[in-house]
Amino acid sequence: MVAIVCFSPEVLYQACALLTAGDVVAIPTETVYGLAADATNDKAVAKIYSVKQRPEFNPLIIHCHSAQQAKQYVAFDSRAEKLADILWPGPITFVLKRRADSPLSLLASSGLDTLAIRIPAHPVAQALIKAYSKPLAAPSANLSQTISPTSAIDVQASLGSRVPLIIDGGQTRVGVESTIIDLTEETPKILRPGGISVEQIQSIIGSVDVETGRGIKAPGMMARHYAPSVPMRLDAMTPENGELFLGFGDMESEYNLSLSGNLEEAAANLFRLMRLMDQPGIKAIAVAPIPRHGLGLAINDRLTRAATREG
Ligand code: AMP
Ligand code: MG
Repeated sequence: MVAIVCFSPEVLYQACALLTAGDVVAIPTETVYGLAADATNDKAVAKIYSVKQRPEFNPLIIHCHSAQQAKQYVAFDSRAEKLADILWPGPITFVLKRRADSPLSLLASSGLDTLAIRIPAHPVAQALIKAYSKPLAAPSANLSQTISPTSAIDVQASLGSRVPLIIDGGQTRVGVESTIIDLTEETPKILRPGGISVEQIQSIIGSVDVETGRGIKAPGMMARHYAPSVPMRLDAMTPENGELFLGFGDMESEYNLSLSGNLEEAAANLFRLMRLMDQPGIKAIAVAPIPRHGLGLAINDRLTRAATREG
């Protein structure tokens, strides 16, 4: 079981070294504890999903230290400016259009053109993101389908030895997740209620829609899903005429999710390769069978959604 450590300059240094190496670190934020990884590193982001044992790739929230930093990755509008001025740093996440030149991992946003971004107020989260200088992807630091952690001990109980470092920052102040607001449409829409109330948001930018949640099985189901514009054929052994082939493991193909058959590597490459292969004029993208265990579950989930154009 990994030890819980108090924040210090040495711990900050250790955390940055782990992040640079593509590893994950459990950190306090004012909402719940987060499982953080370098948001520009596809493999590090894949590690988040495997440590949490998530069966699907929900898009993750990207954490920055300032609005100025966030603007490097997403396009702000006047509503985002107003909300950020008053509510950031704090428990509210904006979904905004991803900038075309954004170096952030496509896996972190599930291949979408939009990005969920937030500035946490917790001093430890702030210090780490500033010191690391790159944004961090960070969902809650617990196993998938379990309750969100609001103390370092909660993280230890859920993730135990699956994380190399748990930084203690006390009991979280807010204790529920951030409010998520979609600012990509004409009328802003609350996708998830959370630490900032709808009334507070309305007092700043006027009327907003609220996603009712009817028919939604999990928070991640709210997000639209990325799908290539050409059809996809799954569990294919070889490409047919006019198809591009996406291989997995030791097989001959121009595109391969992981030559060594490593599922974390495959996850890291998934959305980048789907986009690369989404070429006009081809009949379909044929995809080799992907094992249905570990991260393979999430990979198959996304491929199936892309193949059926769901969501
Ligand atoms: P968490 O598990 O707390 O990191 O919450 C992440 C949630 O944010 C996901 O389950 C999605 O519902 C939502 N989300 C993240 N990115 C997007 C996006 N680009 N568009 C819509 N919703 C998003
Ligand atoms: Mg969670």
